[in-house]
Formats: sequence, structure tokens, C-alpha cells
Amino acid sequence: MKMTQGSLASSRAGAGIAWPAGDAEPHALPGFDAVARLAATTLGTPLVALLLADGSAFWYTPPGHGDPIRLDGMLLAACRQATRRGVAEVVHDARDDARFLPVDADPAHAVIGFFACEPVFALNGQLLGALFAVDRRPHPPLHAGERNALRDAASLAGTGAALRHYLDRTDPATGLPHRNAFFADLHTHLPGADDTAWLLAVEVAPVARFNAFVRAMGHSYADALMHAVAARVQAWMTPGMQLYQVGTARLALLPAHPHDELLPARLDEFVALLREPIDCLGVPLTLQPGVGLLKVEAHELRGGDPLRRVMNAAHVAQDSVRGWAVYDRTQDERQRQDFFLVTELAAALSERAELELHYQPRVQLASGRCVALEALARWRHPTLGAVPPGVFVPLAEQAGLMRSLTDWVLDHGLAQLAAWLRDGLDVQLSLNVSSADLDATLETRLTAAARRHAVPLARLELEFTESTAMRHSDANRCHLAALREAGVGIAIDDFGIGYSNLDALRQMPASCVKIDKSLVCGLDASRHDAAVVRSMVALAHELGFRVVMEGVETGRVLEAVRGMACDEVQGFHIAHPLPAADVAGWLREHASPPPADRLPG
Ligand code: C2E
Ligand code: CA
Ligand code: CA
Repeated sequence: MKMTQGSLASSRAGAGIAWPAGDAEPHALPGFDAVARLAATTLGTPLVALLLADGSAFWYTPPGHGDPIRLDGMLLAACRQATRRGVAEVVHDARDDARFLPVDADPAHAVIGFFACEPVFALNGQLLGALFAVDRRPHPPLHAGERNALRDAASLAGTGAALRHYLDRTDPATGLPHRNAFFADLHTHLPGADDTAWLLAVEVAPVARFNAFVRAMGHSYADALMHAVAARVQAWMTPGMQLYQVGTARLALLPAHPHDELLPARLDEFVALLREPIDCLGVPLTLQPGVGLLKVEAHELRGGDPLRRVMNAAHVAQDSVRGWAVYDRTQDERQRQDFFLVTELAAALSERAELELHYQPRVQLASGRCVALEALARWRHPTLGAVPPGVFVPLAEQAGLMRSLTDWVLDHGLAQLAAWLRDGLDVQLSLNVSSADLDATLETRLTAAARRHAVPLARLELEFTESTAMRHSDANRCHLAALREAGVGIAIDDFGIGYSNLDALRQMPASCVKIDKSLVCGLDASRHDAAVVRSMVALAHELGFRVVMEGVETGRVLEAVRGMACDEVQGFHIAHPLPAADVAGWLREHASPPPADRLPG
């Protein structure tokens, strides 16, 4: 039963909690109901209540007493006053006590007839609140057994309150104060609006690695590990510093005084200590800790999320050589933006029509014929506008969304190709595939999509960047060879900017190489670039690959390329990537005259 402050609105027997407006609901008080029932039974009162110094109130009304007495109005005010006084009091006939008698009212209208109060103390003698027993009718003076019962109940309520306070602040596994305590202490640390304090956070190990410890060794091992780490941190701490467990494998520290600063040498020492191998239940482990620092200002406490920010710094520090880092707002904002984009991209892939493919023609130099269309993903976000593939493709790779993106591209690209083939266009489709796609499932996914859309595999080409194609070359070569055997063209994209091992290149089951646009766009101006590209073309031909130049932006570059015996060209000078609806028109316009005249420039 939940109530707002001071209103015992229930007309049934039961129990309730009230708390100061604006605060979070307090946890139940361990054992309160049992204690209150004992007191109510022994004293025969229809209301037993406990008021704590933090403003929260608990009450119990046993059944069989008619309408329960409400803990509000004059009674609540008297209880609050008695709580502050902290002395025991029994008023066996309260009818003429001014605290319970409305102004000018007859004693017959007193709100209560019996009132007993017993202060509640913690073990250290601190006043925690008071326990009350109240009745409508007066009682005879209490005999010793009743007085003792009230005193015992108050002392048990004190134990419950202390236990609740402990549970409210303490992580049961490590015994360290936890996140609530961290925030409560941080607020008391920064009383004035202009106060600032340095916070420290430790990410003990990367989350995936810590979860792997738990999976392999069990939760009690993880608890023991956190104990051991906490002991190390405590060995480094100066007196007055406070340590908190703020999450799984995450610790935070408050300095003894808000203005205390930490010197770099002390932080280096801290990281070195945390990096030392740790022996946990006989299993040696080396952690990968990150220590984050944040200077927080008092006005940032409300809604400013200091713990998230200092943990962000700790997370960044984990991958740094130094192992500690001060919070960097720019980097944080970039990460938040990336996170936002990733969730938006996931939504765009699963339910929203924001993605589209554009198609860039690739033309055979000798005939001027369009031999392929490269499908390029476009994302128009409803509020951010056009997000370039150079931004969202790498994010999809990092966030594990690449397969979904590639499946989307396969499905939409092949559907479009099928439509063009039905319309009698003689084109091939070239699709970009990332390293995350290059495994045994790619062939199955591609074949299934081709079957679904009834397009021959020979109409398809996959573009892998040079670095993807060369990475883990043995396994990759097998996957690529399987695709090649199935009739799919394989292009090595962005060729010339990676560092291909010639031998690996010779063994690549590729059909063509696309020389990177950064090498092509300056061909007309730089003799050095021209010499490099010329030798690349010769090498690629020697190895049996067709050569495509991408990034042909001007007629002069096209002229330079013509003299290099390259096979195909692609670039803004020939055509920009086009929306699907414009492709047929472009192909018609560029289809007829004799070969040499067909290309612009
Ligand atoms: P890429 O595969 O090298 O694609 C060619 C990029 O060069 C495209 O940029 C294209 O618009 C641009 N381009 C074409 N002609 C010229 C030119 O003459 N000059 C210059 N400076 N640029 C030209 P876009 O569309 O922004 O794509 C960037 C990259 O994003 C692509 O580079 C590709 O790596 C990736 N990407 C795009 N779509 C997909 C996709 O569907 N899947 C995957 N895995 N990656 C994609
Ligand atoms: Ca490409
Ligand atoms: Ca490229």
C-alpha cells in the first residue's frame, strides 16, 4: 500500500509507507510488520507507527478495530514533533492534551485518547526516529510488561532501520557501498552550487571479457575477483577517499575533499597496480583496467549524468597505453552520435523505408558499353538528412549490423536487376561486400537471393576491398573461389592503397581489380602517379585480371587513362551514381553511336 506523505487513506486494516514528496519510494523496512504486530497485540492499540528522521513513515493497523486511525493532521504533527524530541512518552489519557484537541473543541472531540512514543536508536546511539502506539480511547497506565514490549519493539525497529540503511547503500556481494550511496555522497560532497569535485572510475575489465570470466568460472568467482580488485584499490587510496561498486566490474571513487586533485604519477601508479596479475581463488588473471577522471560541477548533478561520463572516460582509457584518461566531451558526443546512428540504422534496416540504392555505371573503354552498375547504398534519415555510406557502413561493421545491411542490399539490388533484365536491359550488377560478410554463408545467402529473384549468378559481381580480400587469405580464398566457381564475378576494390603481397594477389580468385580513385583522380597532373598506375595496370593484366579505373572525374583523366590499356572506367565524368528510376534513361542515351565516340570527353 503506497501513500503520499502523512495520509493514511486506507479504511481497511493493513500496513503502509509514506515518504517525503519528491523522494524515491523507500524500501520496506525489514521486520517492521512483525514488530508492529507484536506491539499492537501486547498494548491492544489499533495503530502502531514508525517515523524515521529521513521523513518516511511506516504504519500497521491490526484487523478487528473498526475504522483505522489515520496517521495525518494533528496526530501526524504530534508524532513528527515527538520524533524530533527523541524521548519516551506515554499519555494514557490524551483527550485533554492540546496536541490532539482541535482549537475550542470539547475533550470529547480529541483526535485520540491514548499516545505512547519510544525513540528508536541505531547501535551507535544515533537517533533514527520513533515508534508510536495510538488508540482512540484512553488506556490505564501501562504496566511494566507493556512498557518493555514497546521498548523492545523500538529497539527491533532500530535494527530494521539500520539494516535497511545498509541494504540501501551496500552491494551484498562485495560489501562495498553501491550506486545509490555514490550519488547520495556525491550530493553531500558538493553542497554549494559552484562546488566542483574530481571523480574517479575504474572499469576493471572489458565487459565481454568479464562476462566470459563469469561464464567460465561462475558468479562467486566474479564476486571474489571484485573483492580482490577492491582490496588493491583500497591499498592505493589515501585516507578519507571512498570506494563504491557502481556496476558489474565497475568501481567509482570520491576524493576525501572535493578539491583534491590527483597527480599523473599517482594515476600511473594506480594503473600499474591494477595491471599486475591477480590471483583469484588460485586462478591467476591479468585484467585490462581503465581509469577515468571527471571534474564535476554541482549544477551538473541534476540530470548531468556524471557517472556515465566518468565511466565513459574509464572505458576509453581501457584501450590506451597509459590506462587512465580524463573525460573528453567531444569524444563522448561522437560516441553518443555513433550509438544513436547505429540504433537508427538498425531500425531503418528492419522497418523503415529510409534506405535506397543508387547505381553508378561502369563503362568498357573500348566499346563505350555499360558493362556493370555498381550498387551504392544511400540512407536518408528523417531528421539528420543524408548520412553518407562512408559514415554508416563502418558503423554497421563495428556494431555487427553488416550482415543485415548486406542482406538488404542483396535483396533490393537483385530485385532491381531482375526488373531491368525483364525490361530487356543487358546489365550486370556489382555489389559491395565487407569483410564481415566474407565467410561460408555468403555463397548461400547470395545464391538464395539470386534464386528468389530469378537472376543468373553470372550477372553478379562482388567487390571486396583489397585489405578484406587479402586478410586471412587462406580461408577467404576458399570462399571467394567457391563464389567464382558459381559464376559470380569478384572484384578487388580500392586497389593500390593497401599493401598486397604479390604472391597472395597471384592466387586471388578475382576477375578484376578496381584501381582506387585516389590514385586515378590526379593522373593527368602527376607523372609520378601516372607511372605508378601504369605499372599497376601492367601487373594486374599480367596476373590475368581486368582493370577498372574508378574516380574518373574529368575528360583529361579519361584521356590519360585511355593511354594505359585499362579495360573499364567509372567516375563522375561518365556518370554520378543514379537513382534506379534514372538508370534506364541513362543507358538508352549512352547506347547507340560507334564505340570510340560513345564516351564523353
Ligand atoms: P567504393 O566502393 O569505392 O564506391 C565508390 C565511391 O566513390 C562511391 O562513394 C561513389 O559515389 C564515389 N565516386 C564515384 N565516382 C567518383 C568520382 O569520379 N570521384 C570521386 N571522388 N568519387 C567517386 P559512396 O557512394 O559515398 O560510397 C563510399 C563507400 O561506401 C564505397 O566506396 C563503399 O566502400 C561503401 N559502400 C557504399 N555502399 C555500400 C554497400 O552497399 N555495401 C558496402 N559494404 N559498402 C558500401
Ligand atoms: Ca566499390
Ligand atoms: Ca572503390
